[in-house]
Amino acid sequence: MRQKLSTHHYCLMSPFLPCHAMRVFVRMESKPVLTVLDDDEAICLLIGEVASDMNYEVRTFTSVKAFKEEIDHNMEILFLDLMMPDEDGIEVIRYLEKIKLKAKLILMSGFDKRVLKSASIMAKTQGITVATELNKPFSIKHLRKTISQCESPAAIRIMAGKELSAQEIEQAISEDRVFVQYQPKIDLSNNQVFGAEALVRIRDAEGNIVPPGLFIAVAEKSGAIVEITREVIRQSIAFCSRLKALGYDLNIAINMPAKLLGDVSMTDDLVMKINTAKLRTDNFTIEITESALVENYAVSLDVLTRLRMKGVYLSIDDFGTGYSTMQQLKNVPFTEMKLDQSFVMDIFEQDAGIIISKSIELSHELGMHVLAEGVETLDVANELIAQGCDYCQGYYYSRPVNPDDFVDYLTAHAHL
Ligand code: C2E
Ligand code: MG
Ligand code: MG
Repeated sequence: MRQKLSTHHYCLMSPFLPCHAMRVFVRMESKPVLTVLDDDEAICLLIGEVASDMNYEVRTFTSVKAFKEEIDHNMEILFLDLMMPDEDGIEVIRYLEKIKLKAKLILMSGFDKRVLKSASIMAKTQGITVATELNKPFSIKHLRKTISQCESPAAIRIMAGKELSAQEIEQAISEDRVFVQYQPKIDLSNNQVFGAEALVRIRDAEGNIVPPGLFIAVAEKSGAIVEITREVIRQSIAFCSRLKALGYDLNIAINMPAKLLGDVSMTDDLVMKINTAKLRTDNFTIEITESALVENYAVSLDVLTRLRMKGVYLSIDDFGTGYSTMQQLKNVPFTEMKLDQSFVMDIFEQDAGIIISKSIELSHELGMHVLAEGVETLDVANELIAQGCDYCQGYYYSRPVNPDDFVDYLTAHAHL
């Protein structure tokens, strides 16, 4: 029989002396509070130990009732187990919504990954800031990383989902704070880097890197996306030239927003810039999401067909998450299908596995290559190879990096 911990909060430095808790709290008033709610006392102890090492004041609860009675509304981080005997995590999430939880929530479960994901989506739609999901069992290293990710100002901004304003974006453009990072694309047949995806970022006034998720949508609305894309194209062409001078003949993929797909002058403009730089059009791929394609289908078809006729490769991004019909897919001369990372990450689960293998079959039959996004482990890469996937991209190989680091990566992996 597992012994239940006291339902009193306590500091992990003196875990077995709950009666001393108040004294400890007074002494540690200035420390941020991290709370753990899990009926498994071993998990409480583990997280508690790691977090107090990281200078948190830790409160652990093995029952929902005690948690509710003694909740600290100023806690910064809450670890919540989804499966508890008295009240499950979903019920607790409803309660957290009611009390307007300010803390960052980390959801944990040893159950099905998909349940964890839908609980996370549910919490987010209730306005709760979900920092991440943690599958049990997890390593101390992973735990440490998860906690520290909650701390960085950039991460806080990301988790809070605070988008840049249209004015902040304009200012970033005018102050040259828009920049591109590159993530290698790997050919699974020989394990070689054959290209890179250009991913835009903004450096904010405090020097934090703001990811595209926090400004692309605003820029699309304000129109700043045109200027941003122009900058991405300019930097990508310059980088491709630099790589060529170093002896690397690679393909750079650029994400194209719906707005530019509706502009017929885009094709000539891009091709002219590529020619001026003395590069080839097949040194570039244009990535389009299914939703961007649908937004302005007729004009997009014109722009994309002409781009392809001039030699630029075309990739359908985040495949499986949008609304494109098979008809539209068939009509656009795409050369590559990018399988969305939400499927790739779950490749070992039955549904996602089937979607992947059928998508690979479908794209090969339509004459396209398939690239899997979000490959984070060797096991996933091997499974993709076994399923006949052509290319991949993901943290297992490299995160998106600055141009200099990308060159270093190439040098180090020239003969994989
Ligand atoms: P995307 O085009 O699907 O880009 C892939 C995203 O997945 C990137 O996020 C990349 O950092 C991330 N990623 C790559 N490998 C992994 C992995 O193994 N695990 C995980 N968890 N994530 C991985 P990022 O850079 O935040 O970009 C997000 C989206 O923003 C992009 O999705 C794209 O739709 C958009 N975006 C990025 N750059 C541009 C741009 O220059 N123009 C436009 N219009 N959109 C852009
Ligand atoms: Mg993309
Ligand atoms: Mg994608």
